[in-house]
Amino acid sequence: MKRLMSFESLAQVGHLKNILEQSGIDCLIKNEQLSGGLGEIPFLDCLPELWIIRDQDFLRAESLLKATLNFHESEKSWRCIDCGENNESHFAVCWQCSSPDSLNT
Ligand SMILES: [Zn+2]
Repeated sequence: MKRLMSFESLAQVGHLKNILEQSGIDCLIKNEQLSGGLGEIPFLDCLPELWIIRDQDFLRAESLLKATLNFHESEKSWRCIDCGENNESHFAVCWQCSSPDSLNT
């Protein structure tokens, strides 16, 4: 069993678990119960974690996860640093002033 990654929100880890299970990859969530804030456990140690049960599924799970996260990433718009215009992610340059996307270049 291998740890795939940890997440800052249970909603996110649950969503990815569904995606992996739909692809036939068995996985489980650790630290699903967040601590009650007693201050005894450092916060980073109790983030929800997604674990892959069969080691041979790990690489496939990792690429699925990357594809999913990139997909969400690509839906974001970006803001032009020159004129402040919001641009759709598929524009490589600002449609308003033709300045390149500083984050993607
Ligand atoms: Zn611009």
